[in-house]
Amino acid sequence: MRAAVDHLFRQGRLLLWGIPATSVLVQTLLDRAADGDAAEAGAAIERLAAAPADALTAAEPSCGSCGTELPPDSRFCNKCGAPV
Ligand SMILES: [Zn+2]
Repeated sequence: MRAAVDHLFRQGRLLLWGIPATSVLVQTLLDRAADGDAAEAGAAIERLAAAPADALTAAEPSCGSCGTELPPDSRFCNKCGAPV
């Protein structure tokens, strides 16, 4: 149980960068640390984790020809070879 809370806490800290208000909510839930609260915090973190992931995906280049996601420094598509 303690390890799970610590894991959630580390994930929550990552969220402090972009979503401070919700991170406060998560932190509050983790501070209470009852089983149900920890599960609730975990669910909140899961939902929040999806939003930054979408933002990061949008910021990364993707192939204009086939849509494959590419590393930021790519000049050509890894899949179809089209210039990025
Ligand atoms: Zn491509």
